[in-house]
Amino acid sequence: MLEPIIRVNNIKVVYNEGKANEYYALRGESLEIYPKEYIILFGPSGCGKSTLLYSLLGILPPSSGEILVKGENPYKYNVKKMVQFQRSTVGIIFQSFNLIPSLSVMDNVALPLIFADVPRRERDVRSMKLLKQFGVDQQAYKRSTDLSGGQQQRVAVARSLINDPEILFADEPVGNLDSVSSDQVMGMLEEINIKQQKTVILVTHDAKLLPYAHRVYHMKDGGVEREVINPEKKQIKQTDPGTSILSEIEKLARIYPYASPEELRVKSIVNFLTQDIGFDQIEKLERTVGQFIDGKLTNEGFVDRLMRRVEEGGPEIPKNNAAVFEEKLNIVLKEAREIRSYRDNFTAKVASPRQAERIAGVREDVLRECGIALPPEHIARMDELLKFRIRGFIQSEDFRRRLEAPYENDGMGIPAETARNATWYLEKLIGQGMYL
Ligand code: ADP
Repeated sequence: MLEPIIRVNNIKVVYNEGKANEYYALRGESLEIYPKEYIILFGPSGCGKSTLLYSLLGILPPSSGEILVKGENPYKYNVKKMVQFQRSTVGIIFQSFNLIPSLSVMDNVALPLIFADVPRRERDVRSMKLLKQFGVDQQAYKRSTDLSGGQQQRVAVARSLINDPEILFADEPVGNLDSVSSDQVMGMLEEINIKQQKTVILVTHDAKLLPYAHRVYHMKDGGVEREVINPEKKQIKQTDPGTSILSEIEKLARIYPYASPEELRVKSIVNFLTQDIGFDQIEKLERTVGQFIDGKLTNEGFVDRLMRRVEEGGPEIPKNNAAVFEEKLNIVLKEAREIRSYRDNFTAKVASPRQAERIAGVREDVLRECGIALPPEHIARMDELLKFRIRGFIQSEDFRRRLEAPYENDGMGIPAETARNATWYLEKLIGQGMYL
């Protein structure tokens, strides 16, 4: 049984305790992080991410609750052990790099070793090796202020690793960087996680970074709101199958615990096709749709069966409706296949034109189905949202909220009712795609 490297049990952190400006920055946080995981603490500014990070680093004692790192509570350490903990168990990089301007790049990296009385020669060898690894060895003898932001952050990463810590913390590490440097630094952190097998815990409010993590803790108002698993990363923490993306069909499964996935799939799609058909017809309709989905009926055969009269055991759907059913069902199945292919062919490195096309197709379909007209400059954001939902980084409720939020607040500014319809429809497509 894999033990967590960090366990946080119900910690509270109160600033200015007992004073008029008393503030609960953490209100009873609990979480577990496993060795070699890449975890993101995600949430808006002020939600308590940094407070949690500093508590984990051993520099901000919680007011109550307990933190265990490798099974030990660092706040019970004596001074000597605490120094050792902060020196060799944890490392950190900051948004603002925190390099010392008067020192050379190499001495900045070696600084933690200077405090540890490591001889100069060894310090230089070790820091040079790291500078080389991160491609800034040419800068070793320059002042840190002569480097670009991206280079400075790479030096800071090298410094954080000089004592070979098991856990690397990063507080908004790319918040001050342009997109190229940001990608480089994120790539380095990924390498540190995968190749050097270190636990990485990154704090950010930037949703773009979420795909890097194994798991994301979404924080809000001093607490973890929920945990989201990255469906594209092989998980270290053991989780139940199907928790990575909660599709409508999985939700249906809670309502119909004895139904097979095929039956649930049919229920979901029939519920989409019609909400105004009598209950007695539904069963027949489900059977017919099931046969069509299984490829046992052609388009024409399907329409014929839909129209078959009640006396002959059919659902007796009027001709016009039957034609609409057939058309809509084919569109849903086509988009569901596109979504499935998008998920199956996704790799973080390459954004292929075919993948972008798939998303564009889904987008057009959702917009058309729900009668939404988007200004061209809003399309990129819509596609981002679709990708995030399809890949399971956000739940349907987040998707709906983002559709509804004003464009200035990272939303799409779509009216509430329409946003609900669009979300509902997308969930249909995703749910169908999951079971293809
Ligand atoms: P985040 O990292 O998510 O932006 P922080 O953990 O920095 O959030 O802060 C959480 C809340 O605690 C904020 O409302 C902040 O104003 C408050 N806070 C942070 N540090 C202090 C402090 N030293 N004294 C009082 N309040 C603080």
